[in-house]
Amino acid sequence: MYDVIIIGSGPAGYVAAIRASQLGLKIACIEKSSTADGSTQLGGTCLNVGCIPSKALLDSSHRYADAINHFSDHGISVSKPKLDISKMMDRKNKIVTQLTTGISGLFKANKVTQVFGHAKIIDSNHVEVTSSDNSEVLETKNIVIASGSSPINIPVAEINHKDIVDSTGALEFESVPKKLGIIGAGVIGLELGSVWSRLGSEVTVLEALDQFLPMADKRIAKDVYKEFNKQGLNINLGCKVTSAISNNKAVSVTYEHDDNVSEVTFDKLIVAVGRKPNTDNLLDQNCGISVDEKGFIPVNDFCETNVENIWAIGDVVRGPMLAHKASEEGIMVVERIAGKHAEMAYNLVPSVIYTHPEVAWVGQTEEDLTQANIEFKTGSFPFAASGRALASGESTGSIKVIADKKTDTILGVHAFGPSAADIVQQGVVAMEFGASAEDLGLTIFSHPTVSEALHEAAMAVNGQAIHIGNRKK
Ligand code: FAD
Ligand code: NAD
Repeated sequence: MYDVIIIGSGPAGYVAAIRASQLGLKIACIEKSSTADGSTQLGGTCLNVGCIPSKALLDSSHRYADAINHFSDHGISVSKPKLDISKMMDRKNKIVTQLTTGISGLFKANKVTQVFGHAKIIDSNHVEVTSSDNSEVLETKNIVIASGSSPINIPVAEINHKDIVDSTGALEFESVPKKLGIIGAGVIGLELGSVWSRLGSEVTVLEALDQFLPMADKRIAKDVYKEFNKQGLNINLGCKVTSAISNNKAVSVTYEHDDNVSEVTFDKLIVAVGRKPNTDNLLDQNCGISVDEKGFIPVNDFCETNVENIWAIGDVVRGPMLAHKASEEGIMVVERIAGKHAEMAYNLVPSVIYTHPEVAWVGQTEEDLTQANIEFKTGSFPFAASGRALASGESTGSIKVIADKKTDTILGVHAFGPSAADIVQQGVVAMEFGASAEDLGLTIFSHPTVSEALHEAAMAVNGQAIHIGNRKK
């Protein structure tokens, strides 16, 4: 009898398993994915086909584009760099293998039992595990569902794994497509679009909505749109794709925009229109849990389902589909199972788009606050006024701090610029401790760092920024 059975070994499941083991619980983690040689493929979407391989390619392609476009700014001349795409892919694959086998090592060190197979919940104490050559029922006191998500497919552009691919296929192109189409200007569209654009593809993004990055700060989204178009991502808003047909040489895409019908041909098409929760054959019809209208497993703020002792975390439940959100939910849940007090600060889950420059934010936007009738004040600082950003040739973008009008408490930090992810993370720490804009202003920031832009933006909230003119709102 296990204390906890965890279904799925992505950042939700494997982190929950390790923390549970630290708390002295007897744990099994069931994973259905396997490698080509038949061993269990741990790590879920994030490590295998998500966060990690995409960042490996973002970093490689950034270096390539930098060598071509910006080395000469620094007085360094190089002959045109030669691209070895298979070496770039090998590097990415090696990093994935290192990290996924690392989890296997962590499981061994923490005495987490790894079980290979497809899990199905029979009731709150029994999980059936099926693999090609075995089927068994495991007994447990608690179950944590961490089964993650998969790419959404749309019938007008069916994935053929050749020239119409999802995000996984887009991490594996063997050569640089001359003309690349992307459906969806979300996080994946922008990150993978950037990778292939930097490597030489002519990229066209077709987005259904009229608004670009609706979840981000409006002003920042406008700057991001302008910059990415300048970089070569041709982002078209308000486009409804009606068909994508492959003739094995090219993909012909038809879309509607403002009552006009257009047709465009691509060498490859990436479909990146969001992800859906994984619940296929996961819940026995008598187990007491049913999914909501979008396929998510309904849970409360503590990730409890409607059945006692069954919990669900990560991409398979509501909230942003982000690895760090998934892992934190995993820690919260097993701590609660172990009888500890634990909760999630859902208002402080940061978001990052790992383009160049990065886009990052935490907390509320001006639009959220206006809608909630909360009075606020803002302070912004452009990276063009940051000495370090200028010295690095990275002066695009700006940072904004939003604070409560009366209490000065920081309510949001939004950035587009160099190291935006790491800078916004400092805002997350400040907000976790309930800091005011003045608190950040009184904090000493090393000079010269790009983080000083956060310091200045916080000071600008109260009209005290040093390196820009302050005009009170
Ligand atoms: P998953 O990682 O999807 O893991 C679920 C696991 O459960 C899988 O291994 C699956 O095989 C297994 N499973 C499912 N059903 C069963 C079953 N019935 N029995 C046994 N096993 C089962 N997020 C970020 O925060 N930062 C990023 O930079 C980032 N980049 C991304 C880039 C791409 C291209 C993609 C696609 C995603 C990215 N994400 C990123 C999102 C991130 O990968 C997910 O939010 C995260 O992986 C969710 O973790 P999870 O553990 O809930 O699910
Ligand atoms: P997304 O939700 O970020 O973006 C999908 C986009 O596709 C949206 O803008 C949507 O309006 C558009 N769209 C939907 N249907 C369409 C259609 N038929 N035609 C044209 N456009 C359409 O989803 P994604 O980019 O696929 O990413 C999936 C998830 O993975 C996200 O939730 C994200 O959180 C996660 N992810 C995170 C990171 C990161 O944290 N850096 C990176 C990649 C993925």
